[in-house]
Amino acid sequence: MPEITSGIALFAFDLDGTLYLGNEPVPGAATLVRRVRERHRVVFFTNGSARTGAEVHAKLCGMGIECALGEVYASSTATATYLAEELIDDVFVIGSDGLRAEIRDRGLHVVQDDRAAHVVVGFDTALDYAKVATALTILRRGGKLIACNEDASFPVAPGHFVPGCGAMVGAVTGASERRPDFVVGKPNTYLLAKIAATHGLAPEQIMVVGDSYDSDIAMALRYGSRSILIGADPRATDPSIVTVRDLSDALQRIRER
Ligand SMILES: [Mg+2]
Repeated sequence: MPEITSGIALFAFDLDGTLYLGNEPVPGAATLVRRVRERHRVVFFTNGSARTGAEVHAKLCGMGIECALGEVYASSTATATYLAEELIDDVFVIGSDGLRAEIRDRGLHVVQDDRAAHVVVGFDTALDYAKVATALTILRRGGKLIACNEDASFPVAPGHFVPGCGAMVGAVTGASERRPDFVVGKPNTYLLAKIAATHGLAPEQIMVVGDSYDSDIAMALRYGSRSILIGADPRATDPSIVTVRDLSDALQRIRER
């Protein structure tokens, strides 16, 4: 059996469905992270846009998964970073107070009416007709549309899914008949590129651990990183992918050396 972690410097763990489900940690999550830390750097990434990076960090620590704030990469934080890099200011935000706080933290302005220049869409459980109408007005005037992610749904308990940010993006793209100008979250590689740049790593030195072929594994494949897929998928045939049953199986595979 080849050493599956050979040449790997950093593990990047997906959160929803991988290390926790809703507010419950997945069995074995804290143990796996602790073991991986003995030999590798660790970061955590999530397409979740409702919480700030600090809130995600607090949630992980509350579950016994010890980590530093700088190890957490949330699409809320990354979206704010992208806006600042691209000088996309005066944005109307469909999303949470946390997302607006991250954007304001970058010195950018949130304008919650149709005088805004651009539209940002994150996870919003209070999406309504008026917000979509405001977004439409801004986009028809030539504003950019930036989406935190396009996840259709996400698991909150075994077998139970709720609409994701993609449902909010879909309302806006449906009304405006256009695609987002940029999607920050996976399967796009923006988050992974940020992680690689921060740690000074090449793509193949990163091991992505996730439960979604279309999201986590697709991102790893696009970027040239290796990956561990929790659960089976018939498409997972690339030699860079290791498929495991669950987190304890992942731990066992990592310890085979
Ligand atoms: Mg997931």
